[in-house]
Amino acid sequence: MPYAVVLDAGRDGPRAMVSALVHGNEICGAIALDGLLQRGLEPARGRLTIVFMNVGAYQAEPPRRFLDEDMNRVWDPAVLTGDRSSRELLRARQVRCLLEDAEQLLDLHSMQSQDAPVALSGDLDKGAALARAIGVPACIVSDPGHPAGPRMRDYGRFADPQLADAAVLLECGQHLAPAAIDLAEEATLRFLLALDMIDRAQAERLAGRALPPPPRQQLVRVTGLVTAGPRFRMADTVVGMQPIPWAGTVIGWNDGNPVVTPYDDCVPVMPTPGAAPGTTALRFGKLVD
Ligand SMILES: [Zn+2]
Repeated sequence: MPYAVVLDAGRDGPRAMVSALVHGNEICGAIALDGLLQRGLEPARGRLTIVFMNVGAYQAEPPRRFLDEDMNRVWDPAVLTGDRSSRELLRARQVRCLLEDAEQLLDLHSMQSQDAPVALSGDLDKGAALARAIGVPACIVSDPGHPAGPRMRDYGRFADPQLADAAVLLECGQHLAPAAIDLAEEATLRFLLALDMIDRAQAERLAGRALPPPPRQQLVRVTGLVTAGPRFRMADTVVGMQPIPWAGTVIGWNDGNPVVTPYDDCVPVMPTPGAAPGTTALRFGKLVD
């Protein structure tokens, strides 16, 4: 399998997958995983699969989010087995068996904005529990699936509430920020620690530093979203993950019509000021605890 590494400890344990480059221009995860592999990452039990996903889009000059279609919207069994074709679907079909083998998934991404990193845990409690077990970042967002198509995180057993298999998508920070690489690395190590696949000594040796105490985590539940109209403009006062105290505060304009917060302490989740018409400009989030 090109651009995939399977590390089998030869001892019983969890089957975990860490993925990077689902979006080809989001390179922090690939840099972090490459570094950990070069420094000798090895699970003590179970099987760890590391996959560099949309390598074609990454190798474009300059790296692109995707070549033909968004690889994080194709994870529907009917699409994967259907007749439709694209370079992303070819790769998704190729690595699908690895994904189906995994019981726990950490999918590493980055963002356009400078906003605080966020773990997107899906709308099932098991996703939030995995994000808490990892322990970073401070912000966990419980969000429903993407309307444009299922994400890899929502594929198969990960979306089945009856099963323990869980997945988290981690937005590590701004695309080219060095801090995003550090978080991708730390989250990968903490993910493997939480699964008891490595011990603390190995984690700290691979990190080259003592892991700091994890932050206090805050869970935010997405309650709705704003789709950008033909001429969407966002208020400059909107900062991702910064609660807005009052209901009715204008956060932007859709074709000149004000868009307002629906309740007090509404958290703007992943605002995209230049959102293209028809795409998600912002999600509204409610603080859970
Ligand atoms: Zn992404």
